[in-house]
Amino acid sequence: MQDKILEAKNIIEQASSLSVLTGAGISSESGIPTFRGEEGLWKNYSPQELASPEAFRRDPSLVWEWYDWRRKIIHGATPNAGHTALSRLEEEKDRFTLITQNIDGLHQKAGNRNIIEIHGSIWELRCTNCSYTIKNYEVPLDPLPPVCDRCDAIMRPGTVWFGEIIPMSVIDKTILAIEESEVMLIVGTSGVVEPAASMGLMAKQSEKKVIEINLDQTPNSSIYDVSIQAKSGEVLPLFYRIDEIYN
Ligand code: NAD
Ligand code: ZN
Repeated sequence: MQDKILEAKNIIEQASSLSVLTGAGISSESGIPTFRGEEGLWKNYSPQELASPEAFRRDPSLVWEWYDWRRKIIHGATPNAGHTALSRLEEEKDRFTLITQNIDGLHQKAGNRNIIEIHGSIWELRCTNCSYTIKNYEVPLDPLPPVCDRCDAIMRPGTVWFGEIIPMSVIDKTILAIEESEVMLIVGTSGVVEPAASMGLMAKQSEKKVIEINLDQTPNSSIYDVSIQAKSGEVLPLFYRIDEIYN
């Protein structure tokens, strides 16, 4: 383990450009449940049963109740050492892009600036009728479901659901960020939800160095240059140059 950490540290230190892909795992040490397994369940529903256009059409109140519950958890959460380490790394590098599947906004809270939220944000609401979009940090939401100020129709969360397509402009920005960086760091993602799951493969095909940090092995661990099985909040702080910050 120690060898792998040193190898990864070396690769990261030598790179002047870095792209990072994060998933739910990086926020788990902030008390936000990940999606897979028991802890992702709410009232016995899995995220896959609630985060979809069909679920919302069938029962918008139920879906909103789940989002309101998640907004409360996220509202009370603070960035952990993993988030903070990534904001330090952004300061260190000439070029740095943080691509996140998370909708919690904790990377912004930690101080990262160049962020692509590929699945949108839980703090955004979008009208189901006129597409009017607003930021809303109210916890709990009132009324629930929220209604549009412009046309009174019901609003939906501004997130990308299962079965929905990430806007092409967002995908293009993401591909460009990976292409323009020497090294890609993949943190806390199970690597089973596309298109994020293929981003590491794409980086490898473009001859980038790819480093993975995850509690467990993932389907792509064996193709990456370094794969570290550990908590992101414990490993990421080892990657920035403490000496430069304190000297
Ligand atoms: P995931 O829950 O599938 O996987 C989390 C990964 O993090 C796991 O592989 C786990 O081993 C790892 N992990 C847990 N704690 C860790 C720690 N402390 N340090 C390092 N790794 C840790 O999350 P994912 O990969 O982000 O899921 C894919 C995407 O599916 C989600 O990001 C999400 O956008 C999407 N999804 C969306 C919704 C929605 O509401 N829009 C709902 C469910 C899933
Ligand atoms: Zn409207």
